[in-house]
Amino acid sequence: MDVSPTDIAGRLAEIQARIDAACEAAQRPAGSVRLLPVTKTVSEPLIRAAHAAGCRWFGENKVQEAQAKAEAMADLAADWCVIGHLQTNKARHVVQFAAELHSLDSVRLAEELDRRLQSAGRSLRVLIQVNTSGEASKSGLAPEEVPDFLQAISACQSLAVAGFMTLALPSEDDALVRACFQSLAQVRERARQDGPAHWRYDELSMGMSGDFELAIAEGATIVRLGTSIFGARD
Ligand SMILES: *Cc1c(COP(=O)(O)O)cnc(C)c1O
Repeated sequence: MDVSPTDIAGRLAEIQARIDAACEAAQRPAGSVRLLPVTKTVSEPLIRAAHAAGCRWFGENKVQEAQAKAEAMADLAADWCVIGHLQTNKARHVVQFAAELHSLDSVRLAEELDRRLQSAGRSLRVLIQVNTSGEASKSGLAPEEVPDFLQAISACQSLAVAGFMTLALPSEDDALVRACFQSLAQVRERARQDGPAHWRYDELSMGMSGDFELAIAEGATIVRLGTSIFGARD
């Protein structure tokens, strides 16, 4: 089914109602979960319609596609978040346009970003990607690697570590999906106890179109939704 720009406001309203209902079911305050619309492969008219309906930030998994869209839609003054794996040699692109990175997963990348951010005179909000499903195909640190990782990057002054991001196991078994989200919440608890104290670890970026209600039940603060807003990708 093709989604047209005139459908977007209604689809966003439906998704927001589901987010609100999931918050209520979890006895969490309305507004404690932010929707990050994921616009990879989505056309400019649909993105503009989402902006017109109130969206002020967008997630993209490929840095060059993200940068091209940020430039083409500079008039929107939206924030662009890179949520996919980033190679160290593409760090400079992120520094040029991105407001946030959800996929920090190596010390080398952290140091390269920090160096380039310092020369650019800016900082960057970053979330650390954690592989909570154990799948070899997924990037991210193993949960037990996170404490040492935080120490290793603690001198990167231009990085504002804001929390953690994960993709759950794609599974019909809710218990397995929930276990991934619980694992990310535990990573954050540990960071709050013994991570570098100059950062706050407020954000849990977890939950996509197929599993965001479970993620909200387990404490997500950001849900990253693509197909449920913009329709199936090619
Ligand atoms: C594509 C993507 C999403 C959104 O997935 P949907 O199932 O379309 O909601 C979320 N997070 C990441 C990292 C993605 O690449």
